Amino acid sequence: MKDLQQLARPNIWALKPYSSARDEYKGKTAEVFLDANESPYNQPYNRYPDPLQLDLKKAISGLKQVPVENIFLGNGSDEAIDLVYRVFCRPGIDNVVAIEPTYGMYEVCADINDVEYRRVPLDEHFQLSAAALLAACDEHTKAIWLCSPNNPTGNLLLREEVEKVLRGFDGIVVVDEAYSDFSDARPFRADLPLYPNLVVLNTMSKAFGAAALRLGMAFASADIIGLMNKVKYPYNINSLTQETVRKILGNTGLLHQHLVDILQARRSMELALESLPICLRLYPTDANFILMRVTDADAIYNYLVDQGIIVRNRNHVHLCAGCLRITIGTRSENTRLLSALRKYR
Ligand SMILES: *Cc1c(COP(=O)(O)O)cnc(C)c1O
Repeated sequence: MKDLQQLARPNIWALKPYSSARDEYKGKTAEVFLDANESPYNQPYNRYPDPLQLDLKKAISGLKQVPVENIFLGNGSDEAIDLVYRVFCRPGIDNVVAIEPTYGMYEVCADINDVEYRRVPLDEHFQLSAAALLAACDEHTKAIWLCSPNNPTGNLLLREEVEKVLRGFDGIVVVDEAYSDFSDARPFRADLPLYPNLVVLNTMSKAFGAAALRLGMAFASADIIGLMNKVKYPYNINSLTQETVRKILGNTGLLHQHLVDILQARRSMELALESLPICLRLYPTDANFILMRVTDADAIYNYLVDQGIIVRNRNHVHLCAGCLRITIGTRSENTRLLSALRKYR
């Protein structure tokens, strides 16, 4: 790996971050806060939230088995994705390489930041070739985007190929594991100590059922986390989110039960969908959704919309022609979808 100073944008490396009122009195116990121009009324909302979210990070650290110093928290994973560009990629000069198809935000954030986005198609089993990804890189490639289990395909990327990318590339490798809670595979965050160039993304939006609260995580070396913290808005996670997520994480029994329910429902949906006449192919999934190739994706999508049932039409996505992406819902939601599809003519 190149050293971090070579990889980071020079202005970011040199950046002196905003120092908040609370940063400047360190650790001392205090009871009277007249430093931040807050109102003394309307508690508890009158106070700025903890900019580094220490209590929440401690809870996440225990759950994910990642030290606090290796955790960044963002306003959704989307913030972490955007920060990778803002920290490492010089607009109009640097580029990134990504698998195709994959999650759309990597490309949107590249476009916003005026960074060239290079797509390397997966093979017909939706697998990556490390050699092809590395061949697409040049001296201006700052990051490679991987997503496993991948969206919209649902499959895990081959660990061996991902490791070849991690070892063979001298820049940042992002592995988005938004769906890893639904998989038995060993998550890449467990290998952080092995790879100084690895950034793993996780989210509260999927297995933890908290998409509305907007909390995403990045796990990486303390130095990379330091750069991300320097660039983020000082109070990027509001108090309500910090507090509510802590409560959700405290109820591990319920979280586990939801996960078990979703995985059982996924199995029954696989069997039921497979037996439908409209089903041409069901792809293997390690996520909470199933990609299915059907006889006429656009017509079936529109038919379902008319029934008040929304799935994701991936018909026009590279390698996904004819495919619908179906999220696993509650028993009754899944049953409604199946009975509508059984009636489709
Ligand atoms: C849903 C999803 C996310 C979640 O993004 P948030 O901003 O945390 O809600 C991240 N990555 C992938 C691949 C996803 O499918």
